Amino acid sequence: MFDAIGKCRPGCGACCIAPSISSPIPGMPDGKPAGVRCVQLDDANLCRLFGDPRRPEVCRRFDYDADLCGANRDQALTRIAALEIAT
Ligand code: SF4
Ligand code: SF4
Repeated sequence: MFDAIGKCRPGCGACCIAPSISSPIPGMPDGKPAGVRCVQLDDANLCRLFGDPRRPEVCRRFDYDADLCGANRDQALTRIAALEIAT
């Protein structure tokens, strides 16, 4: 039953690609535009700054959200992009 709630899929990385991030990221001093892959996202789609104090606050706060993350990476990319347009 708790499986229905779900949790972050390591290696998904959609929330590090689809949204714009206005805070500076090491290697991206002006933040990142929507739809652009964060330079800190490694080849396995994991954050290189996990546990690092330089990781932006907004990334630390972002948590799995079943409505946003959907059932797979493509859904997450589409839904986060749609939210980006709506805000
Ligand atoms: S979009 Fe959701 S499932 Fe994918 S990495 Fe981000 S929090 Fe995890
Ligand atoms: S800093 Fe890490 S968590 Fe934040 S967008 Fe980049 S890869 Fe994702």
